[in-house]
Amino acid sequence: MDDRKRDIGNNQGEKAVKVCVNEILKHGLDIEGHIEAQALGIVTSHITYPCPVSVRARLERDGDIIRAAISISATARMVCGRCLDQFDHGIAGKGDFIYNTGNGHFIDLSDDIRDSIILEYPMRRLCRPDCKGLCHKCGANLNQGPCGCAAE
Ligand SMILES: [Zn+2]
Ligand SMILES: [Zn+2]
Repeated sequence: MDDRKRDIGNNQGEKAVKVCVNEILKHGLDIEGHIEAQALGIVTSHITYPCPVSVRARLERDGDIIRAAISISATARMVCGRCLDQFDHGIAGKGDFIYNTGNGHFIDLSDDIRDSIILEYPMRRLCRPDCKGLCHKCGANLNQGPCGCAAE
């Protein structure tokens, strides 16, 4: 049995990605699993996640200090700022974080996981770089071809 690898599981309904500090032994701890986007608080009226967020983390402990190297992959379903169609944006985030356990028995990775995902959101949310948007007159999606208004 590989005691260094622990599955963070499918934390459905649970709001935190908690790691028990005592599980992080000398040789460190690797965890991996999937977390519902809803539990991370990253679902909004404009951004949803068709699949759970995939997370891997390598944890190392030095006394009260825990170092965590976290990598995340997810697919965010966003609304195009021009044509209002939905599109999927692939997210691959990475970050190194330090936690001070103090007297606690758990560290909670969820805030840093959420921030790492949000950091990877595109500045301009477009379904494609050359999205033609909607016609100002009739509201037709111009990516699907000319609406006829332009001819007037
Ligand atoms: Zn668009
Ligand atoms: Zn039109």
